[in-house]
Amino acid sequence: MSDRDWQQFLDTAVHDLRSQLRTIATSCGLLSEEMSDNTAELTQRLDDGIARMTALLKALDEYSLALHVEDSSFGPVPTESVVRSALSEIASMVKDTAAIVDYTPLPSVNGNWELLSTLFRNLLTNGLQYRGPSPPRLTISAERDDDAWRFAIRDNGIGIDARYHDQIFTPFKRLHASDKSGSGLGLATCKRIVEHHGGRIWVESTIGDGSTFFFT
Ligand code: ADP
Repeated sequence: MSDRDWQQFLDTAVHDLRSQLRTIATSCGLLSEEMSDNTAELTQRLDDGIARMTALLKALDEYSLALHVEDSSFGPVPTESVVRSALSEIASMVKDTAAIVDYTPLPSVNGNWELLSTLFRNLLTNGLQYRGPSPPRLTISAERDDDAWRFAIRDNGIGIDARYHDQIFTPFKRLHASDKSGSGLGLATCKRIVEHHGGRIWVESTIGDGSTFFFT
C-alpha cells in the first residue's frame, strides 16, 4: 500500500474508533452518576482507559498526517514562533515538572507549520517525560549546516542506551512502556515529518547523562 493509501486507511480507522470511544465515554459519564462509592474506582479505571485511548488515537492521527504531505502546504515558517506555540500547548506539563526551557534565536525555514509544531512538541514532551531526578532543563538551538539548518533539542533526562538510538524511531518501539504513558508513535512521526522536509533526525545520548535530538 502507498503512504497515501495508508493515510486513508488510518483516517477511517481513527474516525470510526473515535466515534465508538465517544459513545463509551458518554455511557461511562452516565454510569458514574448512578454509582455508589464502592464502584467509583471502577468508573475511574474506565475513565483512565478512555483517556489513554484518546491519546493513542491522537498519536495515530498525527502519524497519519505525517504520512503524506502536499507540497502546496509548504511555506516560510519562523521556527521560533513554532517553538513558542508548541510550548504553550504543553504549558501545564512544563509547569508541573518545574522545567526550565531556553532557546537561542531560531531561523525561518521552508516547511509545513502544523507538522513542524508537532515535531517540536513531541521532542519537547519527551524531554519532560523521560526526566531524571532533577527538574527538566531543555535547550533548543539551531546551527547552519551547509545549505540546511541543524536543530538540537538537549535534555538532562534519563538518557538512552546506544543500542536503541535507531530503534526508537520505529513505530511502537518504547523503552519505558510500563511506567510512563505514551503511544510509541511520537518519534516515528517526527522521523516522517523531518524526512518530508528533506532532512534527517538522530539522537546522541548516554544513559544517565541526558539526550540531544538533532534534525536537519
Ligand atoms: P512514547 O510515546 O513512548 O514517548 P516515542 O516514539 O516518542 O514514544 O519514544 C520512543 C521511546 O524512546 C520512548 O518510549 C522512550 O523510551 C524513548 N525516549 C524518547 N525520547 C526520550 C528522551 N528524551 N529521553 C529518554 N528516552 C527517550
